Order: sequence, then C-alpha cells, then structure tokens
Amino acid sequence: MVSFYFIFSRLLQQLTENAWSLKNGKDLNHLIQELKNNNILQSEIVSKSMLAVDRGNYTTTKTGAYDDKPQYIGYDATISAPHMHVWALQLFEDVLKPNMKVLDVGSGSGYLTACMANMLMDSYPNEKGKVIGIDIVPELVAYAQEKIRLSNPELLEPEGNLSIMSADGWEGVEKEAPFDFIHVGAAASEIPNSLINQLSLGGRMVIPVGPKNQTQKFWLIDKPINPNESIIKKSLLNVIYVPLVKKPL
Ligand code: SAH
Repeated sequence: MVSFYFIFSRLLQQLTENAWSLKNGKDLNHLIQELKNNNILQSEIVSKSMLAVDRGNYTTTKTGAYDDKPQYIGYDATISAPHMHVWALQLFEDVLKPNMKVLDVGSGSGYLTACMANMLMDSYPNEKGKVIGIDIVPELVAYAQEKIRLSNPELLEPEGNLSIMSADGWEGVEKEAPFDFIHVGAAASEIPNSLINQLSLGGRMVIPVGPKNQTQKFWLIDKPINPNESIIKKSLLNVIYVPLVKKPL
C-alpha cells in the first residue's frame, strides 16, 4: 500500500521541483513544446531523444504521462518529472563523445537510460559506447527491460548500446568502470565514494544529495582531466528525489 508519508513526499517533490508546471499535457508533442516554450528544453538533440523515447510508454498509465510531474511506478519509485529529465540530459549532452561509457544509477522506469542511449547512438552510430542502467529493485530492472524491449528495442545490446541490471548504486559497477558520465536518479545522504572513484578523468556526475523527504541539492560534479586537480562541485537547484537506499548490513 502506498503510505501517507510517501504521498506527502511526492507532493513535496512536485512543489520543490516545479517552478513551472504543466498539468494537462495532452500528448508527447505538447509536453515537448511546453518545455521549449518555458525555456527549459533548449537542445535539439535532447528534444529529438525525448520524441524518440515516448514517456507515455514508460509510465504505468497514460493518464498524466505528459504532465510535468513525477509519476509513481511502484516499489516506492517514481519516473522523475520531465523537466528534471531535461536538466539531466542537457548536462549529459555537454560531455557527449564517441565510445563513451555511461552509468545511470536508479534507472527505475528505464526512461532516462533509454534517452541517453538514444542520444549516444544517434550522435555516433559507429562508436555508440555503452549505457548501463542499474537499480536495486529487481522488479524495476524487469520493468525497465520490458518497457525498453516494447518501445525502443533498437537500443538494447547487442545491436544497441544499452543494458539494465540489478546492482547497488552505493557500490557502482566496478568491473565496467571508469564511466564518463554518471547520473544518479535517487537522493544520496552523501556522495558515494565508489561513484567518484568510478568516474573517468574528465568525467561528469549529476546527483541529488540530501536527507529523505526534505529539500535536497542537485549537484554537478566534474572530475578534471589532470589527476592532481581537485574535483569541481556545483549545486544547481533544489529537488526532492526518493532516497538512494542503503542495503542493511
Ligand atoms: N530516473 C528514474 C528514477 C527512478 S526513482 C526514472 O525517471 O524512472 C529512483 C530509483 O532509484 C528507484 O527505481 C529505486 O529503486 C532506485 N534506487 C534506490 N536506491 C538504490 C540503490 N542503492 N541502488 C540502485 N538503485 C536504487
């Protein structure tokens, strides 16, 4: 059963995330157009990927699928609000390069992982790199795999560059590291050291950090190419994401 606490936290999430909010998104084109009209979506590559990966195919119901709101997908998880997907994808676009490796921690619905895989394949069809989505809930791994198989099968390995697997974001995926871009879709109590270590030199991570059900900061972290230089951290906006859970010891 969805707890009162959870509904409350989702309401808070919407209030915090949404300076602007689209409540009656008619269809995918309407959502994309509104994101553009409000100067949130400013990139053609991102816009193209969001049209190729239809959000309405990754939610549990079409009702409200094109509103600018997070939507519950089960297992205490939400598909994030479209404007947060835009933020993440535009920050990804800045570091897009051939053959890059990408890790999406807390892949949930699989939507954002699919958008990143699409952007990479579209930009560099012959050097399409590798995009790995991980989630701690095996049922959501199966959910994302199924949604991608039905809606964007061309993205899936081996023809495509995308795979989704079950793993803990606090540990990352050591055997696939280093990653040139890491997106974290759940709020960490502190930045996981293993993810910093698994970031390549010149790599970028975006991650919400802060306490459960309270305002958190969405951080941009850039690791300089020169290993002697310190990491550059910038807090971009206030958000509320579901927590990056810690496995009991
Ligand atoms: N970007 C996703 C967000 C899903 S919500 C989307 O838009 O669909 C956050 C996800 O993080 C949930 O699916 C949750 O199961 C997952 N998660 C929480 N703690 C985690 C952990 N320690 N490791 C990996 N995934 C985790």
